[in-house]
Amino acid sequence: MPESVDTSYHSYFTLEKVAKGVWAAIVVPGSGAVGNAAIIDLGDVTVVVDTFALPEAARFLNETAEQLTGKRVKYIVNTHYHGDHHYGNQIFADRIIISAELTREVLTTNGPPELGEWQDGLKQQIAALQEIHRTAGTPRLIEALGYEIAEKQALLAATPSIRRVTANLTFRDTMFIHGSDRTIQVFTYGGGHTCSDTMVYIADVQVLIAGDLVLSKTHPAMLHGYPGVWMKIVERIGSELDFTRLIPGHGDVAGPECIQDMLDYLKRIPEYALAAAQSGSSAQFWIAKGIPAPFDEWAGSHIFDWNFRWLFNQYTQS
Ligand SMILES: [Zn+2]
Repeated sequence: MPESVDTSYHSYFTLEKVAKGVWAAIVVPGSGAVGNAAIIDLGDVTVVVDTFALPEAARFLNETAEQLTGKRVKYIVNTHYHGDHHYGNQIFADRIIISAELTREVLTTNGPPELGEWQDGLKQQIAALQEIHRTAGTPRLIEALGYEIAEKQALLAATPSIRRVTANLTFRDTMFIHGSDRTIQVFTYGGGHTCSDTMVYIADVQVLIAGDLVLSKTHPAMLHGYPGVWMKIVERIGSELDFTRLIPGHGDVAGPECIQDMLDYLKRIPEYALAAAQSGSSAQFWIAKGIPAPFDEWAGSHIFDWNFRWLFNQYTQS
């Protein structure tokens, strides 16, 4: 089997071999793919974890997985309900698509938005982002907003072709997929980043695919999450799972050090927002100060703004 394949004929992701039979598909910022994916060779079957925000990108993911492993992709795992991790599912509609029960429930209860409504919403978001982009103060924020605008524009263009395909196999806490060469664990510790977040653990090579529960040097979107519970989950990941490599939902492949980085963020940003809320000054006053170090060097600077305002509003209302 090839160790790697040429991905230069498209712009959506680059491939990184993380361990024997495990590859990370790391998205190209601004391409529209948005969330990382992974490919796992179980010997007789192939598994793909998450399917990007665009069916077109997922088509290349499928091709890449087949070229790398020499087998048709049999199983898809979706880590959570955010679109940048499952809008590509339709490419795999005739395969076994796995998610936690609660993830599927959210996606079937809150069906896909009506097309016109979805497009109008995206257009409004793009216009708002462009407005902020015009006055953004730091090169890092300008770059992050540029990527976000490009991702939203790519999604807007793809909306007529995206249809919702949800899991056809669900689990509550944990399940195992047994291949001829290895067994992998698909499991959840509950909800932290969303109401339910799934991870995949490949014990024989000590690789953890963490979805958006653990990112590497990238601001995590907190708005649909529960920062306190999330922190407990990340602590549990750090203490219970033996891994040397972690494939995050956003950012580059990392080592165990990303656990402490993530814990620091989930502890310090809410503390920072609480102190700001108690200061009597406005959210804008605090935003103008910039992002507290070391998180000022993380990717996705614009997400800090969303997180801060969301937390600040909670603390000033309570
Ligand atoms: Zn997410």
